[in-house]
Amino acid sequence: MIYRTLAPSFDEFTRDSLVLLCPRCNSNNLHQCNVEVWFRREEHGDGIHTTVKGLTSTVEPSPAKDCPGNRECLRIGFWCEHCSHETGRGGDMLPIHTLEIMQHKGVTLIQWVV
Ligand SMILES: [Zn+2]
Repeated sequence: MIYRTLAPSFDEFTRDSLVLLCPRCNSNNLHQCNVEVWFRREEHGDGIHTTVKGLTSTVEPSPAKDCPGNRECLRIGFWCEHCSHETGRGGDMLPIHTLEIMQHKGVTLIQWVV
């Protein structure tokens, strides 16, 4: 699985917290709309894939070829108040940006998937 990544940018919210900025328009008005998690017991092994979208969640086996990276991975889909314009079934905004938190060789990466 090959894709481009982009480092996230933040504004300071308080001394102890940051505000995530939109990778397209730099707005701070991002909204989470779905979450995906891949978990594997062994590096490059098969795993499970959990998806939460609206009020629905699913858990299913995930063959190694469909798991991002080589260990655990979390992806959060966002829509932006300023540059999102598409809605899905039921009128929910569709995610246009995906933030990825991925285990990679002993470190944790955080990046936009573009
Ligand atoms: Zn935006």
